[in-house]
Amino acid sequence: MTIQPSLAVRVVKTVVGWFDTSLNEQATLAKQAKSVDWARIVPFIVMHAMCLGVFIVGWSWVAVGVAAALYFIRMFAVTGFYHRYFSHRTFRTSRFFQFVMAVWGGTCTQKGPLWWAAHHRHHHRHSDEPEDVHSPHQDGLWWSHMGWITSPKNFPTNFKAVPDLAKFPELVFLNRFDLIVPVLFATSLFFLGMLLNYLAPSLGTSGSQMLIWGYFVSTVFLFHGTCTINSLSHLFGNKRYATKDDSRNNFLLALITLGEGWHNNHHRYPAATRQGFYWWELDITYYGLKLLSWTRLIWDLAPVPLAVRESRLIEEPKKATKRQAQLQPMSAVDLVAGSGKIRSAAGA
Ligand SMILES: [Zn+2]
Ligand SMILES: [Zn+2]
Repeated sequence: MTIQPSLAVRVVKTVVGWFDTSLNEQATLAKQAKSVDWARIVPFIVMHAMCLGVFIVGWSWVAVGVAAALYFIRMFAVTGFYHRYFSHRTFRTSRFFQFVMAVWGGTCTQKGPLWWAAHHRHHHRHSDEPEDVHSPHQDGLWWSHMGWITSPKNFPTNFKAVPDLAKFPELVFLNRFDLIVPVLFATSLFFLGMLLNYLAPSLGTSGSQMLIWGYFVSTVFLFHGTCTINSLSHLFGNKRYATKDDSRNNFLLALITLGEGWHNNHHRYPAATRQGFYWWELDITYYGLKLLSWTRLIWDLAPVPLAVRESRLIEEPKKATKRQAQLQPMSAVDLVAGSGKIRSAAGA
């Protein structure tokens, strides 16, 4: 059987595209209608399929414990770094620790920090409007949860939305080759399992078991936990503030996402580091960031202004129209801390 050159070229381009996301930046891709690119998302499918490996490698307390610990350690990176730092710049840090946060966040396998932040800033500007790429009110629950990630339309990074991040070559590099960190991370877990098997065989683990549980199972749970904020937190929970979208506050989602479930609070005032506006609104990410600030690795955590917190603008939908108009759309710069301008370079 002869393979057509055009097919061979397409296959090579697809495989290279798994590792070099700059191939996704072609304008033609951005113009494609909503659809699923099955070839491009093979790594995404494989990540889910590998979870079935638990039936082959079995389980051990140490492997399950590592998987659970890595879920929370990396959820902290998604919410504290990718969201509250790269997307909203709600605190400051050094260029060195900014890089550490990007690598830490990279282990989550949710693409690069620029891609993540650009899409998220777009979500805030167009929440639950037709332009919102992951609104359950526009395209249904499945699409808002994970379908949008499989669409070529959403593969490219909109660098114009993240000029404050795009000026750092090291971040652009991590964003372009966004599988480097996950591959190194998964490999490290494999060797950790081998080492434990050698040093402490009574633990009953192995390289392959640690890889399946520590990386694949933990990462898939982490992925879907994160995605609940795009899907469920715009459907289920309470609305304290009359934001222009349908964001909700949901305690259960705040538990599994370490604080992101206070999503209505967050849409009311995205520039604050804290999303649980009251002491009883558990926001573990914020507590972690506060601890980090005591080490001086990060600083200038943006507070929630009292006037914002007390502005309980919730009204009946019909009456809310006029009031909501006053809250209407946020510009790119309103989304980040620093009221009125995007914070300058790290450390500045
Ligand atoms: Zn939202
Ligand atoms: Zn946000």
